[in-house]
Amino acid sequence: MGQFMLPNGNQPIFIMPDGTQQTKGKSAQSGNIRAAKAVAEAVKSTLGPKGMDKMLVNGLGDVLITNDGATILREINVEHPAAKMVIAVSETQEAECYDGTTSAVVLAGALLGESEDLIEKNVHPTVIAAGYRMASQHALSVLKGVCQISDEDLGAVFGGDEHGTEYSLAINCAKTSLTGKFTDSSVFVKDRIADIAGKAVAILREEDTGEVNLDDLNIICASGGSVEDSYLMDGIVLEKEKAHIGMPTSIDNPKIALVSSAIQVRTTEVDARINITSPDQMQKFLDQEEKALKDIVNSFKKAGATFVMCQKEIDDLALHYMAREGIMAIAQCRKSQFASVSKSTGATIVDSVDDLLKTDLGNAGLVRERKIGENIMVEIGGIEDLNKALTVVLRGSTSHIVEEVERAFDDAVGVVSLMGSNSGVVAGGGSTYVEIAASIREFASTVKGRRQLAVMAFADALEVLPTTIAENAGLDPVDVIMELRAAHSISDNESKYYGVNIDDEGTGVLASNMLEKGVVEPLKVVEQALLSATETAVMILRIDDVIQMKQNGPPQM
Ligand code: ADP
Ligand code: MG
Repeated sequence: MGQFMLPNGNQPIFIMPDGTQQTKGKSAQSGNIRAAKAVAEAVKSTLGPKGMDKMLVNGLGDVLITNDGATILREINVEHPAAKMVIAVSETQEAECYDGTTSAVVLAGALLGESEDLIEKNVHPTVIAAGYRMASQHALSVLKGVCQISDEDLGAVFGGDEHGTEYSLAINCAKTSLTGKFTDSSVFVKDRIADIAGKAVAILREEDTGEVNLDDLNIICASGGSVEDSYLMDGIVLEKEKAHIGMPTSIDNPKIALVSSAIQVRTTEVDARINITSPDQMQKFLDQEEKALKDIVNSFKKAGATFVMCQKEIDDLALHYMAREGIMAIAQCRKSQFASVSKSTGATIVDSVDDLLKTDLGNAGLVRERKIGENIMVEIGGIEDLNKALTVVLRGSTSHIVEEVERAFDDAVGVVSLMGSNSGVVAGGGSTYVEIAASIREFASTVKGRRQLAVMAFADALEVLPTTIAENAGLDPVDVIMELRAAHSISDNESKYYGVNIDDEGTGVLASNMLEKGVVEPLKVVEQALLSATETAVMILRIDDVIQMKQNGPPQM
């Protein structure tokens, strides 16, 4: 029953329909905060290089194994409105930055967790919200100022690479984004994926604008073999087999024809009935059909086509004649395959074979059929304009592995594409959060009133990131944060790069220089995480009234 009442003498007036639920004040706040924190808890254990994976099983029993925060939250069904707001944080993060989804959600959860304590102490949510806003502005300025790695420092670490600073930096950013993925496989796996991502983006980046259009990158997934067998290829890979066994398996300098309608004699649109009254007539009819098919093949010959792609089916007999002429063909191609072959080889799509002209044909260096993993595919290689025909073939022993490789590759290639000119890079491993937290604590002393408490709480929330990375790596979070704070308090250029050292478990060295280790990430990833986590935490904090309408059922007759 609608509980929202207006005073009217002693008689309450119900202004909302039956079934509307309302929660107000502290109980609304704590309900929302708990729901939001629960979302953060759900992904927390996956954060960082030693984070664990999750196995998600849907109603149909399909299994998905992943370490990716955004993927996990996308797959699970969440009803609570505040929880959905936190999930939106990971969606924005993924859309804008491809990476940092878990960090953003964990940070939002930490900010709300800290606010719970303040609300307990009777600090009003609007005061907390104001303090958080101040702190986050300060955080962004520290991030772009102190934390951004100077060109000099970047050169010192990455300049020695034979491929140049930029490439080496890109590879290392890609590797950081591959954090926590394929932890148990060899280091070569990550190197391979990072290398492919770095090279692909370098080719796709427009020289004048620095922009990268990732839509131009074709990605093919093939199970069978190992992840290390993944490769970048200058050309197009079609998940197709040649249409007839007698056709050649490879053609040098193919002349490519793209035909959109079916290659056959009878047009399916007209339903004609033919009355045959004598065996002669039958033979005549068959001869005619054969001639028509030969004509089709002759059209290809006349135009000079040696490799034919058709969007529909190709008549068996036509295939037979084409094979005899040494033409290679694939049938039932997808529209997207047509589009990319047309774009990269210069072939014009024709509606029917009769329309085919010499000028419609596309060019490439080689087309060949080849077994990739468990599948037979057709490669079109040797294409001149490389940035129009770049394909990544991702491999892995099973389909689950290839799927996770694809998600990892998407992140890596996306992160590298973010690194255009003057976009900034920071050190990872939680180092930025510790540096910002320290600066915020200093800044807090200048903030008057109770907002100071909120500013301090913001700093505490930031430190949840390094402590979570440490915890997931089996390190003691308290020891780690103490060592990190101590490292950052030293006033030299290097101290700000100190993050969680997850590699020397047992030696007691808990903090190390992340830049030197090559653990770097685009500034934008951290910036976006800070922005959306703060915005969402503030939005949730400001809600003190939750009104839930009853779901509309089917209209009553
Ligand atoms: P997200 O979804 O937020 O990207 P990840 O599980 O990918 O979550 O973890 C990212 C965090 O792990 C980042 O803060 C990154 O700096 C940190 N990280 C990556 N590599 C290392 C490393 N070798 N040592 C310490 N921290 C690392
Ligand atoms: Mg990541």
